[in-house]
Amino acid sequence: MVSCRKEVESLRAYVPGKPIDDVKKEFNLDKVTKLASNENPYGCSEKAKEAIIETLKTPSLYPDGNCTKLRNAIAEKMNVETNQLVFGAGSDELLSIIGRTFIGPSDEAITCTPSFAQYSASVKTMGGKIIQVPLINHTYDLNGIVDKVTDRTKVIFIANPNNPTGTIITEKEQLEFIKKIPSNILIVLDEAYYEYVYDDNYPESVPLLKEYDNLIILRTFSKMYGLASLRVGYGIAHPEIIDYINRVRGPFNVTTGAQEGALAALSDEEFVKNTFEANKAVKEYTYRRLDELGMDYIEGHGNFLMIDFKKPSMDLFVELQKKGVIVRPGFYFGMDTYQRVTLGTKEEMDTFFEAVEQLI
Ligand SMILES: *Cc1c(COP(=O)(O)O)cnc(C)c1O
Repeated sequence: MVSCRKEVESLRAYVPGKPIDDVKKEFNLDKVTKLASNENPYGCSEKAKEAIIETLKTPSLYPDGNCTKLRNAIAEKMNVETNQLVFGAGSDELLSIIGRTFIGPSDEAITCTPSFAQYSASVKTMGGKIIQVPLINHTYDLNGIVDKVTDRTKVIFIANPNNPTGTIITEKEQLEFIKKIPSNILIVLDEAYYEYVYDDNYPESVPLLKEYDNLIILRTFSKMYGLASLRVGYGIAHPEIIDYINRVRGPFNVTTGAQEGALAALSDEEFVKNTFEANKAVKEYTYRRLDELGMDYIEGHGNFLMIDFKKPSMDLFVELQKKGVIVRPGFYFGMDTYQRVTLGTKEEMDTFFEAVEQLI
């Protein structure tokens, strides 16, 4: 039998949110509501759909490896230079490439826990050591991260808002933190849920790139833009960081459909506005229902909430599936009495609460 690298031995394959069809089959259900993967319950822009379909007419051609049209559009929107952008098959791929570009054996990276699983995966794959500082009050402990910086630290990963807890770090906290970190350490600011946040204290990170050349901001089309299946995300950083990443990136890593879909989605401001408003309204509705039930939850700034059911999460996860609702058990995040629940449409949340009321 073939063996793998020793770094790979300690890794575990990612366990994705359970697919709808699996649950339908397993529990013999006609209708299943998936609130497990923070997907957009309102779908995506119709303009994006049309653009994607158009690209299916020319599948024989390689995509534009430079993502030129999308690059120009985002550079203009973000007010950055085109050489400050890199595109990936989702920010997942960018995280993996960041690991391959900046982490070697015995290098260290720091993040908090629980947070996004791909940070540690990208580091461990390269033989690096990931240091995971516990969250405080479900929020990133930036001082705790500063305390763990050593000569070997190469990368720091911050999810803002955090996944799974949905908490944010403020503009002031982020700036103070960045000032304390040596300029040879890359700080990854993963802002996958940026478009959902309406708290005034949430940072605008892009202007910081003018002063700090050791930042990379990650954004994605998977969440607010509703294009998770296309796999497209991007990083914004100093041109030299982008240049290093480009040396490791696959030449045609973003498909034509993904590029054209993202470009059209970017221009459909109305879809984004509608999703933003709907998510906000459903979040307030969900808070109200949870308060009425006397349930504890963490206030979240994204399109999902961590709800404390005060019982083992894997058991409740199965019980909810029997009632046609898929959520994400807190077990996977070391928060075993919680479930991470994506904010669906109001109707989907009513289905969720109907199931919950029968189970609590
Ligand atoms: C969903 C998510 C991503 C990854 O999204 P992609 O689909 O790979 O672009 C990255 N970071 C966090 C924190 C997420 O929740």
